[in-house]
Amino acid sequence: MKPFGYVRPDTIAAAGKAAQSGAAFIAGGTNLIDLMQHEVMTPQRLVDISRLDLRGIQGTAQGGLRIGALVTNADLAADDRVRRDYPVLARALLAGASPQLRNKATTGGNLLQRTRCYYFYDPSQPCNKRQPGSGCGAITGVNRIHAVLGASAHCIATHPSDMAVALRALDAEVETKTPDGAQRRFPLADLHRLPGGTPEQETDLAQGELVTAIILPPAKTGCQDYRKVRDRASYAFALVSLASVIEMQADRIASVALAIGGLAHKPWRDPLVEQVLTGEVPSEALFDHAADILLRDAKGAGSNDFKIPLTRRVLKAALRDATRSEMPT
Ligand SMILES: Cc1cc2nc3c(=O)[nH]c(=O)nc-3n(C[C@H](O)[C@H](O)[C@H](O)COP(=O)(O)OP(=O)(O)OC[C@H]3O[C@@H](n4cnc5c(N)ncnc54)[C@H](O)[C@@H]3O)c2cc1C
Ligand code: SF4
Repeated sequence: MKPFGYVRPDTIAAAGKAAQSGAAFIAGGTNLIDLMQHEVMTPQRLVDISRLDLRGIQGTAQGGLRIGALVTNADLAADDRVRRDYPVLARALLAGASPQLRNKATTGGNLLQRTRCYYFYDPSQPCNKRQPGSGCGAITGVNRIHAVLGASAHCIATHPSDMAVALRALDAEVETKTPDGAQRRFPLADLHRLPGGTPEQETDLAQGELVTAIILPPAKTGCQDYRKVRDRASYAFALVSLASVIEMQADRIASVALAIGGLAHKPWRDPLVEQVLTGEVPSEALFDHAADILLRDAKGAGSNDFKIPLTRRVLKAALRDATRSEMPT
């Protein structure tokens, strides 16, 4: 590990000032320390944000929830309001990592964790994300876990967070503080970028911009579910995951929100898929039509080709279950 400086400010303002070029915030450290050990990330200074007042979960005036960036994944999954009103979020959190990791991992850090691409983690390999212009080892290499949607000729990495997928289905927003003290609030959909020609730029955050909270709108009505397909029953990242919030009225689909993980550089949500399902009577033909639309531009790179039919099956199974019966929320 390369030598680095370390500060532990007491205020958000001081953290912003300390996070100039070359610095990185550290929260739970469960991803950043790994990356520093592999010398994939080599910050000159760590700004430890653990003393900042970012731990609370409060109700908002609009009837939603404001989740501080330092709330741990374990505490968030156990919160009564989350379990009752946003079960898709609780389930996604509990599907991620291990109990020990969830006790350390934070809301902000989980959203901003880096891809699990093997080539990104190995500095002896080419990787445009780690070193722009060096190439991409995965495109013609071992790419079983890689993207089939939204990828580019420069990078086919996926975003690894389960929590982010649920938050995307719930229309969450991100609250941040820029280093000059300004507050920003924007849809989570705008946080992560597709790789395009600049895979090294993963988010729209500026240098030193601190995520302070996630805002959930009032709970959506309908059945909420999170399903995750992975190589082991626990302690493994998603090959494909699906967060769904689906409401039925009589025999029709009244509303639907679907966000998918494991397919792209960000949690994937396709408005056209939701549009074709809304107002319709469920049927296998309708579900196939939705899957055709979702996967119309899907492209495998070889070892990850299986994700395309797998996604179809996951989507159809989720739609079948949610529209067939009164699923518990
Ligand atoms: C073995 C293993 C298995 C795992 N399995 C899963 C899984 O199945 N699903 C899953 O979703 N995750 C999984 N994880 C990832 C784990 O959830 C993340 O490591 C964790 O959520 C990161 O949170 P952290 O607080 O430790 O972040 P850190 O490691 O402290 O930080 C991660 C990144 O976020 C930045 N950052 C942190 N907080 C802020 C903030 N408030 N504002 C701005 N930037 C910030 C840091 O600078 C850093 O770049 C796994 C991890 C391990 C080690
Ligand atoms: S897929 Fe992206 S992260 Fe992986 S090697 Fe290629 S450029 Fe790097």
